[in-house]
Amino acid sequence: MQAPATHQSKPYDPVASRVRGFGTTVFAEFTALANATGAVNLGQGFPNFPAPDFVKEAAQQAIAADLNQYARSAGQPRLVQALAQVYSPLFGRSLDPMQEIVVTVGATEGIFATIQALVEPGDEVILIEPFYDSYPAAVIMAGGRPVYVPLRGPAQARSAAEWTLDMTELAAAFSPRTKLLVLNTPLNPLGKVFERDELTQIAALVQAHNVTVLSDEVYEWMVYAPAEQVRIATLPGMWERTVTLGSAGKTYSVTGWKIGWAIAPANLSYAILMAHQWIPFAVSTPMQEAVATALEQSKARGYFDWLGSMYQAKRERLLAVLDEVGFTPIVPDGSYFIIFDTSRLDVPVPAGERRDVAICRWLTREVGVAAIPPSPFYSPAHQHLTDNLARFTFCKTDDMLDEAARRLQRFKHRS
Ligand code: PMP
Ligand code: GLN
Repeated sequence: MQAPATHQSKPYDPVASRVRGFGTTVFAEFTALANATGAVNLGQGFPNFPAPDFVKEAAQQAIAADLNQYARSAGQPRLVQALAQVYSPLFGRSLDPMQEIVVTVGATEGIFATIQALVEPGDEVILIEPFYDSYPAAVIMAGGRPVYVPLRGPAQARSAAEWTLDMTELAAAFSPRTKLLVLNTPLNPLGKVFERDELTQIAALVQAHNVTVLSDEVYEWMVYAPAEQVRIATLPGMWERTVTLGSAGKTYSVTGWKIGWAIAPANLSYAILMAHQWIPFAVSTPMQEAVATALEQSKARGYFDWLGSMYQAKRERLLAVLDEVGFTPIVPDGSYFIIFDTSRLDVPVPAGERRDVAICRWLTREVGVAAIPPSPFYSPAHQHLTDNLARFTFCKTDDMLDEAARRLQRFKHRS
């Protein structure tokens, strides 16, 4: 009798093509390297200092109150109400907490759910380079096609504001298939805060092409005067076509809590909810209650202003170190990151490795200060733009920033 046919000639390969091309994120790689080598981690953006007591106490109370069961899918009523209270004045409209806000598992899920909700297979999504690394991944997983437009700055740029979009280049990136433009202001990793005039020009283009904007504003409270946070959703005709994202992780120094939110008109919020209900269904109940308490108290406590001032002082501290050791910084107007110039370092670059990656591995291993290479924030065609750049974060204790400064002193007297 003949044996039944087997399929052994086809190798076992269970992985779907939509994830096969993905490598480990640059943040996971460099935090693991920093941990393994004992480096001071100025790489991955997470605060190493405690969260505010009033925020932690709110979480303890939520746990003690046995708020243990599934939350409302679009977000706990108390949290969406607190968000509406905080954001209504900032958006210049009375936000409907039950219909215009969706609470997500960090802004990361807000990005994923929004793109799942709005992007059809074959649709194009305009991404401004440098981009946060989850944007192209989320577009690809939705079957969409990222279209990249780089910010361009003079070679000797000293300030993030000098990096601008060529509006003709941006206009040329639109096609009949363009569905979405992703904006990030303040922008990770450059710290650029888009100015009203730039946002007005972007708004005119998206309106002319009937495109939606996903505005990732997770660093909204880390904007350094005279720069100011302009929300594209508040420009004429833009509320109707904008999804704005925020994150408690950044605002309350609790990146591990993974609480974020999307604010958008009811039709867009409903579409995001339709995706979100099948991704996590709902978000951690006690942590939502804690963030609700935090938001309810923040204004009276002057918390948002305190956060901005605290980070501004850390920005000055790290800028001074970079200037002193000759790693010319590009001064950020927002976020907790600084891009700096590494061209004075003469470090061998292994074949097949990008220079910025080699430099950041070397800084981590040999100098004991971890940095993030910016090339993963660019499409392959534009990665050469970051060969001489690296990113530090300053969301760390002054002690840690001072230890990094001590380790970097060896570069001080080298020309
Ligand atoms: N967007 C940007 C620009 C970020 O830098 C981050 C931080 N990691 C996120 C989104 C993700 O935010 P969350 O940690 O709330 O998921
Ligand atoms: N946003 C953080 C950064 O840019 C990292 C987030 C993550 O590790 N996914 O450093």
